Amino acid sequence: MLSITRFETLIPGPHLTIFGAVHGNETCGTQAIRRLIDLLNNGFALSRGTLTCVPICNPKAFENGTRFYQRNLNRSLYIKESPRDYEDLIDPVLCGLLDQSDVLLDLHSYASQGGAFGFLGNTSAQEIDYCRSLGVNNFVYGWADAFGKVEADPRDNMGTVEYARSVGCMATTIECGHHHNKGAADIAYRTIVHALAHFDMIAPDSIEQVEIQPANRQRFVQMRSVFHKQKEGDTTHPWKHYDSVAKNDILATYADGEKIIAPEDGVIILPKLQADVGGEWFYFGVETPCPAPMKH
Ligand SMILES: [Zn+2]
Repeated sequence: MLSITRFETLIPGPHLTIFGAVHGNETCGTQAIRRLIDLLNNGFALSRGTLTCVPICNPKAFENGTRFYQRNLNRSLYIKESPRDYEDLIDPVLCGLLDQSDVLLDLHSYASQGGAFGFLGNTSAQEIDYCRSLGVNNFVYGWADAFGKVEADPRDNMGTVEYARSVGCMATTIECGHHHNKGAADIAYRTIVHALAHFDMIAPDSIEQVEIQPANRQRFVQMRSVFHKQKEGDTTHPWKHYDSVAKNDILATYADGEKIIAPEDGVIILPKLQADVGGEWFYFGVETPCPAPMKH
């Protein structure tokens, strides 16, 4: 069973939908969304538009404290003709909500050490402005360009934000820090408040303890490549997400002596220091100015 809470202001405005626990072991969004629902049920009012909250998108995975139950809900998110896995039964619910929405905010946490960052959506200038308004300073973009061509069925790459964009929503995923970072729920909450302020659904600084941050000092990293752990080996350092490296730096060394070298000056993205042989080890990206919108 999914619990969905909607607040209708009766005043025209955007329809913002917020997802938590699309991955069941990422609970920062759940805590933050529940905190907001509590506030709205106890006298705090939105000034316009519609807000839809789904604190737990994958209930069975959440119950088990696992990323997913039978398959990653953040891939292959489309309505299946013949549902097979548990998550296939959730697809139509989430897709149906996004069909009615204008904006998606999807809140996650991650397994590497490092701070909060967002996946910048640059399908339009409005989407870039939205992402940059969320009080997050670090962004990664170009994920689909770097990795989108490997799947046989392009729908396999469709997660929440890709589905949302396919039906005309602005969308972003915000990674609020490490799974077990106690501050992640506060970051998620602050992100929500920034989204509500950006769309004039609340007055800026109207929620206690959240100060709206201007979009400055932001960094943008374009994804370039993924390194799989092809055989036994170790990273050169206990890399953290967003560590800077220089061209020709040794990033990792295999047990047989083969080295992985930085192809250019860049940034380590989402390292999994405990990756299994055959699994994704880390991504590599390059710092750029804020990308231009893909359409005007
Ligand atoms: Zn996640």
